[in-house]
This record gives sequence, C-alpha cells and structure tokens, in this order.
Amino acid sequence: RSSAEKFEFQAEVSRLMDIIINSLYSNKDIFLRELISNASDALDKIRFLALTDKDVLGEGDTAKLEIQIKLDKAKKILSIRDRGIGMSKEDLIKNLGTIAKSGTSAFVEKMQSSGDLNLIGQFGVGFYSAYLVADYIEVISKHNDDIQHVWESKADGKFAVSEDTWNEPLGRGTEIRLHLRDEAGEYLEESKLKDLVKRYSEFINFPIHLWASKEVETEVPVEEDESAEEESETTSTEEEKEEDAEEEEGSEKKQKTKKVKETVHEWELLNDVKAIWLRSPKEVTEEEYTKFYHSLAKDFSEEKPTAWSHFNAEGDVEFKAVLYVPPKAAHDQYERYYNSNKANLKLFVRRVFISDEFDELLPKYLSFLKGLVDSDTLPLNVSREMLQQHSSLKTIKKKLIRKALDMIRKLAEEDPDEVHDDDKKDMEKSGENDEKKGQYTKFWKDFGKSIKLGIIEDASNRNRLAKLLRFETTKSDGKLTSLDQYIKRMKKGQKDVFYIIGSSKQQLEKSPFLERLIKKGYEVIFFTDPVDEYLMQYLMDYEDKKFQNVSKEGLKVGKDSKVKELKEAFKELTKWWKESLAGENVDDVKISNRLADTPCIVVTSKFGWSANMERIMQSQTL
Ligand code: ADP
Ligand code: MG
Repeated sequence: RSSAEKFEFQAEVSRLMDIIINSLYSNKDIFLRELISNASDALDKIRFLALTDKDVLGEGDTAKLEIQIKLDKAKKILSIRDRGIGMSKEDLIKNLGTIAKSGTSAFVEKMQSSGDLNLIGQFGVGFYSAYLVADYIEVISKHNDDIQHVWESKADGKFAVSEDTWNEPLGRGTEIRLHLRDEAGEYLEESKLKDLVKRYSEFINFPIHLWASKEVETEVPVEEDESAEEESETTSTEEEKEEDAEEEEGSEKKQKTKKVKETVHEWELLNDVKAIWLRSPKEVTEEEYTKFYHSLAKDFSEEKPTAWSHFNAEGDVEFKAVLYVPPKAAHDQYERYYNSNKANLKLFVRRVFISDEFDELLPKYLSFLKGLVDSDTLPLNVSREMLQQHSSLKTIKKKLIRKALDMIRKLAEEDPDEVHDDDKKDMEKSGENDEKKGQYTKFWKDFGKSIKLGIIEDASNRNRLAKLLRFETTKSDGKLTSLDQYIKRMKKGQKDVFYIIGSSKQQLEKSPFLERLIKKGYEVIFFTDPVDEYLMQYLMDYEDKKFQNVSKEGLKVGKDSKVKELKEAFKELTKWWKESLAGENVDDVKISNRLADTPCIVVTSKFGWSANMERIMQSQTL
C-alpha cells in the first residue's frame, strides 16, 4: 500500500520476536489469553473514562463493552476484536514496536535461559506471543481522538502503519487479525477456541463472544413442479404426513416447503463473567481461587498460590477483597525497591476496574502480595487523582495490612515444620497437614525480606511483624526459629535478647564475641542479611525484652560478682592502656565479661555503628 509508513522494531523487541517466531515452545495456546487480556485492559480503560464522561462510549454497538472472536477458515484468519479504548496512530507505533518496555530485555534473557514462554504476560510483552501462531498480523484500531489505522507486520524486523481506507469502520476499539501459520490450523476449530477461553480467560470481566457456526434445518419454499418428488423425501414419518394433511385441509393455497440443512452463525457467549470476590468465601472452591490467582497475576505456571485471604469489610468503609501470597517471588521483587511503583492490587469501585497502580492501597513492603479490592464506599465519578486522596483509602489500607499479616501468621501456624509448643506431635501424627509442611520456611525464603522491610517502615505494625521474623541461632541447629521461641528458651535471669550481625553464619560462629555466652549456655541470634543492620536499628524491643548486639558495649550476662573485683585490680592497667591509645579512635578500655579464651577484643560503642555496619556502608549493599 502506497500510503503505508514503514518502521523498524526497536532492537530488543526485534530480538524478542525472533525468539518467539523460532520458538519450539509447544504450548502455543497462550497467545489467545494474552490477546484477550489486552482486549480486556482496553475495555477497562474506556469504561473508566466513561465514569466521568459518558459520551466517550459512543452509541449503538460501539458502546457495547465486549470481546468478539471470529474465524475465517478459508483464509485461515483468526480475529479478536474489542470495543475498548483503541489505539491512535501514535499509540500503534509506540506500543506495538518502537518502545521497549523494561520487561523486554529481562524476558529475552529469561527465554534464553529457561525457555518458558508462559510468563510472557508478566513482562509486559504479551502481544508478541501472537507470532507463535501467526506469520502475519494486522492490527486495525480506532481511538476516539484519531481516524482508523492499520498496523501490520510479518515479524521481519519491520512494521507498517497506514490510514485505513478499506476495512469496515470499527466505531471504536481494536481488531487483531492473525493470519495463522499452516501448522496452527487447530486455532480455526471452534471447539479449540471455546476450550481455551474456558481454561484461560474465565475471569475476564467482559463478555467474550465467538461467531459460532450452527447447523440448522430450515423450511424453504419449493417450486410447484419440484414438490411432487420432494414430498416422499421430506415427509418420511407418519406424523409428518398427518401434519401435511392437516395443513392441506386448512389452507388450500399454502405454499409447499422443504427442509434443508444450513450453516448459520450467531454470537455465542463463552464466559459467564463471574466476580468471585462477590461470592461468599464458603462457596468458592480452592480450584477457583487458584485459577483466579493465575489470571490476576498473569502467572500461568500452574503453581498454587501459597495462601489467600478473601474477606468482606463492613462498617464505615465497605469493601471486598482477595489477597494472595504468590507461590514465589517475582523476578524483580526487590529491584529498585524504593523507586518503583510495584503496587499489585487491582482496585475496583462497584465492580468497575479503576486502576492497578494505586500504591495507596498497600505499603511498599507488602507489594509482593497480589489481589484485588472492590469498594462500594469510594465514589465512582471522580478522577483517579481525586480518588487517590479519598479519606476511605486510609481505612482500607489499614484493614488490608491487618488481614495480610493475619494471613501470613496463619501460614506459620499451620506449618507442621514450625516449632509449635504443645500440639506439634498431634499434627505430625494425623498427617493432615502434609501439604502445609515447610510452607512458612518457603515463604520466609522468598519474602522474609519484605517482613524485615516492614519492621523498618511500619512502626504501628512492628510487633506483629516481629512475630513473623525467622532466623538461625547458636542453638537452632541449622533450622529457623522465632522470637517467641527464643524468649521461651531464655535462661533464668537473662534480660535481653542477644544477637550478632555479620556476613555469614560460618564467620559469626567463630566470633570471639560469642565465646563466653555459649559457654554459659546463652542463645545468640545470627543476623546475616545486609538489611539486618537497618532492621535492628528499628527493632528496639519485643514483648518487654530489649535487644543486645553482643559485639557492642553494654553486654550484661547475668550477675557477675567478679567483675567489680577485677575492675579494681586492673584499674591501673586499663588507665594506662586507654592513655596509650588516645587519638586512635578508641573511646575507652574496660574489663570485659564476655570472653572465655580470647585475651582481648574491640567492641563498638552502644550508639556507634557496628563493624558490620561499617562494612555495609563501605560497600553500599543496600
Ligand atoms: P501489556 O498488555 O502488558 O502492556 P502487551 O505486549 O500485551 O503488554 O501490549 C502492549 C501494549 O499495546 C499495551 O500496553 C497497550 O497499550 C497496547 N495494546 C495491545 N492490545 C491492545 C488493544 N486490544 N487495545 C488497545 N491497546 C492495546
Ligand atoms: Mg498484555
């Protein structure tokens, strides 16, 4: 076409498309779910705009918020159409080719190592999965602010965009036309498409229709001279003969008819738009929760979410919510933690999708959770900015945090591997909780850092979060333990919780700081995460117990009557020592009660940075 403008794909996008085109990945089905998900996103966008301006929807069919799938067997075309927001010419150029998203190169890398295309949606490049089944794709799109355009590409590094002067006007929205590859013929089968929509797109919030064919028998008039011979064929049963007889009696002149089989098409609804969060939690099955998670998180790895919480908040602020702990951490969970917006909750107001970028719903440290909130209290007809400042959001956030922490606490309580006090043996015997065995350890491995960040950031929930902390100690025998357990094991007369921070457990185990404590039977916590130094600046006490870094000044180990004597005896020595070291960054020289075999040790002052903190500051690891 002469009017077409040609473009080259951005380099990373081009690489991605090469990988997809040449992929031997067998599960090509995923493309349909990605395209339907895009259609659904586009519909969400126009519905949101319509909240404040009804006119954007247009009239008649254009206003129908739905998705339509059509097949052309002869031409081997599968098309998916939505009446969503559509794309302007500029959108087409940017969104489908010239701008690489941050996930593009991450996904390319991942593909080269693992080859699992299933996660493509999470990386924000789902559209290109269509090239798993098509070798030529046309995207026809009409945005309210522009005329209709066609984007097309054979995935050969180039694409073209033209003004659309030949297709039927869409009104508004997008039609993706896939010219299927020869080996992708199965996607021209209606049964296959119905099956895929059922399986993957169950929770799409808009009706999905298929232009389905149906064989019907219709009566068509017969020519007079034809009728004689036709009669014996069409009226084969007694009943029909009688009917015919009646008819003839009733009206002499009635036109003779014959039955013929015909293929007709009609829109068949493939999904029953179901909002599981509106149902009672008792009625929703585990399988439904799992599937719903997959569609929410765009995680089709078939893994079950580790936990979920579905609840209905009543009172001043009413909302329903479903929260999930994902089966594992996202590829970029802790990257650019403080600078990025990784809110993962979808916000609905009275069933209308508003945004998944509201970071007012959950604090950053809980951004690993997935889920949704649907509120009846928030106003519908205000801008996103206004909504963001609505006072109800604070209440919603508070309740969500509470529920999230409850859910995590339960995860630990139900795990037979966790040290439980009395009932542990019973649980082991019954074997009922086999499935939950080790679930908290796994959670801790993936998301423990979030709990620590929570202790740092969220003063009002610090104690609740501290309960969720796990660590190894000098007595935990390589297993994880908790503060509650530590406190239970504390020696008589022990006031403080002892801990030591360093880069690894092996290194810490050799530390002279521990010598005497271990000898006397005290338990010391090992903190080995870079974040732990910060953590312990915020975690001052827990259940009336103070924390004591054993490498710092001020360590008190029970009563030690000898110290006083020794202090006196060595008064001159310590004085001389201190004077000799004056000007060497040494504050004081004291008699220590923390050593057993090592003759002397350098400790950090109570309010100074520990040696480990100095190390961290030097390497800027956080
Ligand atoms: P993602 O959906 O994660 O953003 P995709 O690769 O699936 O990534 O889609 C890229 C972009 O193309 C979308 O963000 C959107 O802007 C645009 N797009 C794709 N399909 C449609 C559609 N049916 N209607 C409107 N815009 C679309
Ligand atoms: Mg997408």
